[in-house]
Amino acid sequence: MALIKPPSLPIPQLHFSKPSSPPTNSSSCSHFITSSSHSHSPFTEKHSINRYKRDSWVFKNQLDPLSSCPVPPDSSSIRDYDIALQLPELKKMLEVLREKRESGGGGERGDRKVGDVYLVGTGPGDPELLTLKAMRVIQSADLLLYDRLVSNDVLDLVGQNARLLYVGKTAGYHSRTQEEIHELLLCFAEAGATVVRLKGGDPLVFGRGGEEMDFLQQQGIQVKVIPGITAASGIAAELGIPLTHRGVANSVRFLTGHSQKGGTDPLFVAENAADPDSTLVVYMGLSTLPSLVMKLMHHGLPHDTPAAAVERGTTPQQRIVFAEIKDLADSIASAQLISPTLIIIGKVVALSPLWPISSKDASTLVEARQI
Ligand code: SAH
Repeated sequence: MALIKPPSLPIPQLHFSKPSSPPTNSSSCSHFITSSSHSHSPFTEKHSINRYKRDSWVFKNQLDPLSSCPVPPDSSSIRDYDIALQLPELKKMLEVLREKRESGGGGERGDRKVGDVYLVGTGPGDPELLTLKAMRVIQSADLLLYDRLVSNDVLDLVGQNARLLYVGKTAGYHSRTQEEIHELLLCFAEAGATVVRLKGGDPLVFGRGGEEMDFLQQQGIQVKVIPGITAASGIAAELGIPLTHRGVANSVRFLTGHSQKGGTDPLFVAENAADPDSTLVVYMGLSTLPSLVMKLMHHGLPHDTPAAAVERGTTPQQRIVFAEIKDLADSIASAQLISPTLIIIGKVVALSPLWPISSKDASTLVEARQI
């Protein structure tokens, strides 16, 4: 295994050194590229408790008096009751906004004023990949709802007066269901707030952004979408992989490794996707990768097709594994990649300057990012 260690400066200088232990499969073309500080998450899940404290969120279990309130009869006050019960600070904010709304501001909705709702893509993690539009909206928001794949560096750009609410799913503390998220967006928009729903990557690529838009539009609330750099684009750029390339790949396909519970097996597409002239990008694919690769090879994708798996791409904790597809699952297991990891499969992967052509029978470890 060779160790490649770019410095923290923007211009990379690669240093090669011999590893102390042999690669898992010495006959394979497997390469691990990682950063030195991968134990710290660049994403929000671990930091949200602190942020809750900063914003003085109080939780249901800390709120005995309200728990014993009678449940109100009509649906809109049930919504308020739920918010009050679970997030009393948010309830207070809602009241202030409603008072403000009475005295003007926001857009018209019948005879009432409604706020703006923005669905904003924040890119794969590097805050410099935010669009100027996203920056402007993030800084003007009253309330921001964010999930797991929004990076901490992006949240650091949020103004001190805005309220941040984590709505991702992480074991150990309360997070919102999709329905609760819909209700929160609706409630605050109706109260005249500028509400920003932050999503990692692009909100309309495997981000359930369509569902949130659909719900709000059915309630008569217009949602403005601000696109983000999807993980495929951000990470391909980071690795120097052209997702399409004349004479190498004439199309690119984004796949999900997961489907909704009870939905159709997402891997049924493997038959059509086993095209050597196309690039495949697999989102949420870690757990189903062994099965996907078997199917792709079964349907004719050459066993030596180049592939890359990138954990926490575009962040300082980025780790990359390069391998031929026949070895990809083993290489990922050896490197113990965790979510979020993006997988890119196709001949274009070998066009990356990081693809180790000269050491085909060894593994490679690279620390830190190039850009
Ligand atoms: N809307 C997002 C995708 C959400 S699905 C987008 O457009 O990028 C979540 C999956 O995206 C993860 O499981 C992973 O496969 C991929 N992903 C998102 N950000 C990533 C990152 N920084 N590094 C690696 N994979 C990432």
